[in-house]
Amino acid sequence: MPFTFEGIPDKRPIVMAGPCSAESEEQVMETARQIKDAGIKIFRAGLWKPRTRPSSFEGVGKEGLPWLKRVKDELKMYTATEVANVKHVYDALKGGIDIIWLGARTTANPFAVQEIADALNGVDIPVLIKNPINPDVELWIGAFERLNQSGITKMAAVHRGFSTYHKTLYRNNPQWEIPIELKRQIPELPILTDPSHICGSRDLLFEISQKAMDLDFNGLIIETHCNPDKALSDAQQQVTPGDLQKLLGRLILRKADIESNTLLSTLEELRHEIDKYDDRIMEIFDLRMAVARKIGLYKKKNNITILQTSRWDEILKHRIEQASRKGLSEEFIIKIFRAIHEESINHQTRVMNE
Ligand code: PEP
Ligand code: MN
Repeated sequence: MPFTFEGIPDKRPIVMAGPCSAESEEQVMETARQIKDAGIKIFRAGLWKPRTRPSSFEGVGKEGLPWLKRVKDELKMYTATEVANVKHVYDALKGGIDIIWLGARTTANPFAVQEIADALNGVDIPVLIKNPINPDVELWIGAFERLNQSGITKMAAVHRGFSTYHKTLYRNNPQWEIPIELKRQIPELPILTDPSHICGSRDLLFEISQKAMDLDFNGLIIETHCNPDKALSDAQQQVTPGDLQKLLGRLILRKADIESNTLLSTLEELRHEIDKYDDRIMEIFDLRMAVARKIGLYKKKNNITILQTSRWDEILKHRIEQASRKGLSEEFIIKIFRAIHEESINHQTRVMNE
């Protein structure tokens, strides 16, 4: 499933930029002009906006199609917009849109994806598929399969982060392991990261963009607006075309292939060291779970419930304090201890049910 696309050099990073929403003809043209001056060839703008609450701005709809047509014809840029149903697909195709994308909420719904795939049968337009809002790589792959079965051959994945119940630093948790797993399963599928929807605020964009490049992902989609603070949707995460250019200029593009032998052997030694520590971590997990099973047995004998919330709060509080002294992030420690705690509970439950 290659994302070969005439006129777009297959050079990292492939960049797509433009406002979250098309708001007016002036805003679209002004933003597109400035983005083009920054050397970017693909212009994004949402016409139909999937909003959490119905009182928010829900996009200008097909009224904005002629504005994107002007961007295409006058500025010679490729245009991209989101489609969420069959009607959007027909309107977008009729309006001359070059690339369409499926939003995160759509990817999560196989009925919607199938309807869109059926509507696209026989039209080989490039399609980007955002990850589903829930971290389910199979559901994401399923969407590619549905479109592929309809004859779509030019596809790319968009990594835009995942919804969480717990509040994190990000608007949508990046959970890098999900796009990494996608890349492992479909290595030829290009991945574009959408730092804007991951971060939710512009100050974190660089860090996420750099990480995507360090993971050898293929490109970036960055929401860009000629007057971000006045944007009708996602104002905090949008940047000016000037700031976008600065961000792209700061990116360091590292090599994915290791050519030099000395580099390789040093790396091998360091990897060996990492493996040794990972072995120790595994051993310790094993020992810890054995204790959890003993606790389970004891609780069973004495008729005590598995989960004592106060004990769990105490563990977490203590480890967070310890982490900050060791220079480990709070987010990492919470994630690790949550997973360890969950596994311990599973071991205790197993013993209790035996
Ligand atoms: C968008 O790209 O503007 C958008 C709504 O994206 P997502 O589907 O990732 O929320
Ligand atoms: Mn947006």
